[in-house]
Amino acid sequence: SGGVRAARIAAGYGSSVMVAEEYRMGGTCVIRGCVPKKLMVYASHVRHELDDAAGFGWTIPEATFDWSTLIANKDKEIARLEAAYTFNVEKAGATIVKARVTLEDAHTLRLSTGESVRAKYILIATGGTPNHGEAIPGIEHVISSNEVFHLKTLPKRIVIQGGGYIALEFACIFAGLGADVTVIYRGENILRGFDEDVRKHVRSEMEKAGITVLTGCIVTKVEKHGESFSAHLSSGSSVAADQVMFAVGRHPNIKGLGLDKAGVALNPVNGGIAVNEFSQTNVPNIYAVGDVTHRINLTPVAIREGHAFADTVFGNRPVQVDHADIPTAVFTQPEVGTVGLTEAEALAQYTHVDIYKTDFRSLKSTMSGSQSRVLMKLIVDGSTDRILGCHIVGPEAGELIQVVGIAVKMKATKADFDGTMAVHPTGAEELVTLRTPTTRHVRQAAE
Ligand code: NDP
Repeated sequence: SGGVRAARIAAGYGSSVMVAEEYRMGGTCVIRGCVPKKLMVYASHVRHELDDAAGFGWTIPEATFDWSTLIANKDKEIARLEAAYTFNVEKAGATIVKARVTLEDAHTLRLSTGESVRAKYILIATGGTPNHGEAIPGIEHVISSNEVFHLKTLPKRIVIQGGGYIALEFACIFAGLGADVTVIYRGENILRGFDEDVRKHVRSEMEKAGITVLTGCIVTKVEKHGESFSAHLSSGSSVAADQVMFAVGRHPNIKGLGLDKAGVALNPVNGGIAVNEFSQTNVPNIYAVGDVTHRINLTPVAIREGHAFADTVFGNRPVQVDHADIPTAVFTQPEVGTVGLTEAEALAQYTHVDIYKTDFRSLKSTMSGSQSRVLMKLIVDGSTDRILGCHIVGPEAGELIQVVGIAVKMKATKADFDGTMAVHPTGAEELVTLRTPTTRHVRQAAE
């Protein structure tokens, strides 16, 4: 994502651009990430619509689902997008070379086709790659998010290790498609780093959907028995499954790039390529954007960073990407949408923090009979009335948080929210009708 945007903008400024891609154009997001994942979320979500239908008077015969149709249609859409990416990069005037490239020095690149190329500037946008953690016995049987998009059949039972974005999104996808899903997470509760109420709410919703969430344990061994597996856990128990997937984080894709030959330094804290606020490495003509820098691993961030690089280096317009208050969504079912500070983060930074929170069954659920609940939470600076954070778990939370993100970025106050007329009947109207704080935190000044 970062490389494509940078190439198009840099070429637009009249520079001579070569993009080296050894596999398919589009990067993680298009080929094996956000886009195919979201298509699978749509497929899975149909289950909830079917479940809701009876309360509204529909009688729907037993629905059947065909995995191979979903995968074939998804692959067709990804191929269409890949072609569009290729077309747009070339239309902008950049040249795509289907090759792996390694750095020989700060200006020389060796292509896997054998040629050598010199460049005035080099941008590294090689992304990240799944990391399976420590090697355990049977790790060769474990799939990652790379393979999950190409399974031949829908597993009837799947064990997924991890409590972050990928593990939980796929847990919900598979549960919706009818699989028996067990999530294994090493800590106390899933979604570490998210607001505590969000963490509890998502877990409770996932459990209501029939997903088993086992916390405080890890997978220690995976055994294969014919076509199925057993995942042995540190708690002493084991879970039988048709697939075992790990989604325990991703690491920067830097192996074999020749960074040492060019003298490019890594960030000792996160292991990504170390860059300054202009995405420039310690070697002045080499830049890096996106997941390979391991800053904030989100597609829109990589795109902004790639664009800023092109503006800065070729557009004669230095641009720094603002990494504050980035809205983000986890496409669990229900979704999470979040922007700004969590309650705990706000408490650590502000003396007066007001919390406005509501947890309710939607109007739709009252008729459908769904037991699903929606969470909406605002974190407000009690001294200035500014909204510091917003956290939503519920239908279309990703769509909602995109819009709330604008208000938070504009430094909206709680009074601005209250002054906005509600749209009725919606779930989002709760955000402008939360009148009384559920908690008021006041930190006493240190003696
Ligand atoms: P995350 O960092 O989100 O989650 C990794 C999970 O694995 C955490 O729960 C972590 O636990 C756990 N874990 C880490 N190491 C181990 C280990 N050795 N053994 C057992 N568990 C372990 O990574 P993901 O792989 O889910 O996703 C990578 C990144 O991709 C995300 O952080 C996000 O930036 C991006 N992404 C964004 C999406 C979106 O915008 N919707 C969708 C998918 C990915 P702990 O919390 O204890 O560290």
